[in-house]
Amino acid sequence: MQEITAAEFDREVLNGGKVIVDFYSTECPPCEALASKFEDLSQLYGNDVKFLKVFRQGNRELAEKLGVKSSPALLFYDKGQEVASRLTGGIKRSDIIRNLDNMLTAEKVKEIKSHIKPSVSEFDVIILGAGPGGLTAGLYLCQSKINTVLIDIALPGGHVSTTHEVSNYPGFIEPQPGFMLSHNMSEQTKLCGTIYKVAVDVTSVDLEKKEVVLDEYETVKAKRIIIATGTTPNLTGAPGEKELKGKGISYCATCDAKYYNDKEVIVIGGGNSAVEESEYITRFVKKLTIVHQFDKLTANKQAQDKVLKNPKINILFDSEPRAFIKEGDKIVTEVENVKTKERRKLVSDGAFIFIGMKSNIDLFKDKLELDKWGYIKTDEDMKTSVPGVYAVGDVISKKYRQITTAVADGTIAAMAIAKELD
Ligand SMILES: Cc1cc2nc3c(=O)[nH]c(=O)nc-3n(C[C@H](O)[C@H](O)[C@H](O)COP(=O)(O)OP(=O)(O)OC[C@H]3O[C@@H](n4cnc5c(N)ncnc54)[C@H](O)[C@@H]3O)c2cc1C
Repeated sequence: MQEITAAEFDREVLNGGKVIVDFYSTECPPCEALASKFEDLSQLYGNDVKFLKVFRQGNRELAEKLGVKSSPALLFYDKGQEVASRLTGGIKRSDIIRNLDNMLTAEKVKEIKSHIKPSVSEFDVIILGAGPGGLTAGLYLCQSKINTVLIDIALPGGHVSTTHEVSNYPGFIEPQPGFMLSHNMSEQTKLCGTIYKVAVDVTSVDLEKKEVVLDEYETVKAKRIIIATGTTPNLTGAPGEKELKGKGISYCATCDAKYYNDKEVIVIGGGNSAVEESEYITRFVKKLTIVHQFDKLTANKQAQDKVLKNPKINILFDSEPRAFIKEGDKIVTEVENVKTKERRKLVSDGAFIFIGMKSNIDLFKDKLELDKWGYIKTDEDMKTSVPGVYAVGDVISKKYRQITTAVADGTIAAMAIAKELD
């Protein structure tokens, strides 16, 4: 592995054979997360692919000329040509391997893979998920001198890192950008000494044996496991939704409704959460349109009665969103009547989507006792039905899912474990 400057780029990259270049920056957590994977893979693939690093801040012109707009960015070259899609952000080891393998012959890949040595590491506690729940548990365990590893399939921060502003987390007078709050939480836990393994593929989880396999070859063992994997909101799947998440499309009324004072919004959904959240949102907005796929709301009668009587709420039945488009400050939602197939455009200041959440439990759901909605049941110490396995945050069966409640769960699990291991 070698560090190069812009002056050496043509000679080392464009005139060379197979090359991977890492454009990195300082004070860049995803760059730090990538560094050990890059180093590790250079040991494996280094005889066949040249591993180069370029310091982006020191070589700005080159980065701009190549269109590198974020750090880290991995570029793959063969005979001077870029040969694979660029990787940026929370880069997974498996994604780098896929690109490298595509640059080599099948025999070469087989030979390289034969050199991979499975590794095993041991900790007191494994935390799966580095959102507020997992990060808080990591902080408390670390301060109790308990050897802890935090594992996440993405970068640390969870939902908070993609939340525009957080104004209800105690201790801050001004609303905080979500990425700043999650960055501070993560740094606090990391500085304490908790080990991070982030942007990894979690290949398997054995709750009974307390073993987690990462990227197929790395086994991590512990005495206890905390599951803090959170939830994923169900998406409508309409074009534009993913791109506008956090930029006019929201999945949390408590978090975002206050930013729509005297504005107009639409709500997609018609079940309990859509109807109850709509009622709450009308404390702020001047007009709210519910778009619901059936000809009746499916929420409980009491909640339905309230919204039907609310003068600010208008309901479009038999309708589904087909596209979300940003036009200036407005969100245009293209809505189709599922019976007549007629389409119309709804212009609003924002859209809230409440068509259910899904707990992230796919890797271990068969082993744990769940409630009827698929959330993990815990006792007051956050213990699950599997001995030595705890769960915290949004992934557990509970009524209110907020940063403060996730943080509280993480605290409880960590203190209970610290007492047990003492
Ligand atoms: C758009 C939005 C805005 C919000 N705004 C606010 C707000 O303003 N105030 C507030 O209090 N609450 C807000 N919330 C709710 C709040 O974000 C959650 O309650 C909180 O983040 C839950 O924390 P958590 O640690 O349980 O889970 P999450 O934050 O969901 O973190 C879970 C982590 O687990 C990781 N993970 C998932 N699967 C795996 C796996 N198999 N292995 C390892 N890691 C895995 C994920 O990558 C993620 O990093 C908002 C929620 C959303 C969706």
